[in-house]
Amino acid sequence: MSKYQINELYKDQSIHLKNLITRTGKKSIYDAVSQCSRCGYCETICPTYSITKREPISPRGRNQIIRQLIEGKIKEVDKAAEAIKTCLLCGACEDNCYGHVPTPDIILEAKREMTGHGNGLIYNFSIFILKHKKEFRYFIKMLFFLKKIGLANLSSILGLYHIIGLSSLDHAQKKLLNPPLKFLSEYLENDERLAQKEKINWIYFSSCGIEFIYTNVGLSTIELLIKIYGNGIFMQNHCCGLIAYNYGKLKDAKELALKNIEIYENIRNIYGNVKIIGDCSSCVAFLKNYKQLFDEDESIREKANNFSDNVLDILELIKLEHIEEHIDYDKIKKENLKITIHDSCRACHAQGIYSQTREALKPILKENLIEMKDSSNCCGGAGAYSFINPELSTKVLKDKIKNIANTQANIVIASSTSCFMQIQYGLKKYYPSAKIMHYTEFIKNIIK
Ligand code: SF4
Ligand code: SF4
Repeated sequence: MSKYQINELYKDQSIHLKNLITRTGKKSIYDAVSQCSRCGYCETICPTYSITKREPISPRGRNQIIRQLIEGKIKEVDKAAEAIKTCLLCGACEDNCYGHVPTPDIILEAKREMTGHGNGLIYNFSIFILKHKKEFRYFIKMLFFLKKIGLANLSSILGLYHIIGLSSLDHAQKKLLNPPLKFLSEYLENDERLAQKEKINWIYFSSCGIEFIYTNVGLSTIELLIKIYGNGIFMQNHCCGLIAYNYGKLKDAKELALKNIEIYENIRNIYGNVKIIGDCSSCVAFLKNYKQLFDEDESIREKANNFSDNVLDILELIKLEHIEEHIDYDKIKKENLKITIHDSCRACHAQGIYSQTREALKPILKENLIEMKDSSNCCGGAGAYSFINPELSTKVLKDKIKNIANTQANIVIASSTSCFMQIQYGLKKYYPSAKIMHYTEFIKNIIK
């Protein structure tokens, strides 16, 4: 063990994780960051370093800065703000590091100490409404209505967002192309096929992005689940807590996670352990991380572990043998579909999902599935990153769109809602001959 106590310089230990569950075992943050040997092997894979060639915003640079923060050599966390705030949390570095140094988790730990980060009015308001589902729905509907009638665009043209200091909101509303006025749960709560049965094979977890923005993705997932896997129910879950977690707000993230664990426990009392299926890879990766959130809490640990162990990304669930008999091969041929896959960071780096999508689709699509260069590189969406760091995010996005365009694909498949929004925006602007589809939307589209 190191001579340093975890967060010895930090004022409030309750805002931090005590230990990280890493790929090489449970470790204190200091032990985890000290594992970085400064070899630099991860540098070229890091999107922010590749673009800027600046050491402080590379994985190695970030780890060294955070190590110095813990050692007290940098007294003010804000001095390291750029290194911390510009990290996409994509996880490419961890995957490419021999020691699997968990840089994104280390960054998040530092983020929890950053003053002025996650304490603003917008964050607190967002978290309030995320915790209050009914109010959240009204609020989002009002925003979408304003967008539909052009008021959000008018505010943008007049520069109102910039005047009130909320440029990020302007970026956010511009990326929202087709906001729905009816949300996913409003469809699912009235769907008799999802009523309780004697036996169920799956539980559907709806993420906020799919619930409120990409409603059609959720509807496609439900259609596929019913058609291929039989009876199941809608979990009627709360936000997974990822937004709060990524803002460094551990307490809020735990509160939301606990609500979901309780819902699952109630379902479990009736049906036993049933797989929880999610279709936003970012949220799914975080649900699998509930283990980490409650590792120190004996009263919840077992339930949290059980919850996480039963979570599955829809990308992992769907196998070739489940779908091949339903495929409409004539349609694939007739529509001259050319497909490429963008591997969302939280699918490939956080969950190790890469080959599963190819194993399911390649035998069906054959030469119509064209691999893009660096398919597992981040698109620059990364949750709210594209709103907070628009310039860097746009540079990362342009690289992604260039790689897509080089395949001449007309459909790009993705599985995380922030990738979805980011790539949809990028395609419209730089390569309009392709459209984005979620994995389940695409499969539903090619089955009879
Ligand atoms: S994070 Fe890993 S790959 Fe990168 S410099 Fe440190 S030890 Fe090397
Ligand atoms: S998580 Fe991504 S952006 Fe952050 S240091 Fe690692 S590779 Fe770079």
